[in-house]
Amino acid sequence: MIANFHTHTTFCDGKNTPEEIVIHAINKGFDAIGFSGHGYTPFDLRYCMQDTEGYLREIRRLQVKYQKDIQIYAGVEEDAFSPLTRSNFDYIIGSSHYFLVNGQYFPIDSNYDYFKKCLEAFNDDIPRLAETYYQSFCAYIHTRKPDIIGHFDLITKFDEIDTPRFLNNGQYKQIAVKYTEEAAKSGCLFEVNTGAIARNLRTAPYPSEDLLYILKKAEAGLVLASDSHTIETLDFGFEDAKAYLKEIGFKHVYGLLDGAFKKDIL
Ligand SMILES: [Zn+2]
Ligand SMILES: [Zn+2]
Repeated sequence: MIANFHTHTTFCDGKNTPEEIVIHAINKGFDAIGFSGHGYTPFDLRYCMQDTEGYLREIRRLQVKYQKDIQIYAGVEEDAFSPLTRSNFDYIIGSSHYFLVNGQYFPIDSNYDYFKKCLEAFNDDIPRLAETYYQSFCAYIHTRKPDIIGHFDLITKFDEIDTPRFLNNGQYKQIAVKYTEEAAKSGCLFEVNTGAIARNLRTAPYPSEDLLYILKKAEAGLVLASDSHTIETLDFGFEDAKAYLKEIGFKHVYGLLDGAFKKDIL
């Protein structure tokens, strides 16, 4: 199956309209495309959808218009701090993009300056920061059970562009492993997200390799996702990611087809 289920458009912080993306996906031979606009976060309007009704109307229009050419799904990337009315969406990606410290939201992944503010809020205490992040993310995962868990170890995003703080830190690894095991018990699918590679920030997808081994052992299901914000990156790094997952021992990933998540052999 050729598909991507983590796709942003001009309805949030993406560069292309849904229709431009659908046409591009059809030209690339995609079987399915899933849109996942950022769910409304009233405390941070910089990047989220503010016209969710318009978004849904447009995706439903495209579903009809292009039904002979491609399967189209109207999903949402829900932030852990922004529970939504979910019934309108075909599927939910649950992601955690913030720390909530003393009533203030600190975005983790917007840019490196914001990330440094997160570090300051925790006095550069990486284990405490990681515990806080994963604990609240896992509480959300078990309570709200999204279909797909988005970029599980997003806090490692800037590890390769400046001081490495997480991926070579034994204490961090222990914490990440513990919470990966806990999140896997939810039965939710995990994304393998190539978005940070496309932005030249990372050389491997989320989650990191050691966490993928944990997910393999836990028999968790995976979904390949590009977290694309432009048509150029709709299936970015998918072939490399598939080979990498096969090396780790995965035999298949999951994708939405005919309205349900189904296994797709790697
Ligand atoms: Zn995200
Ligand atoms: Zn995203």
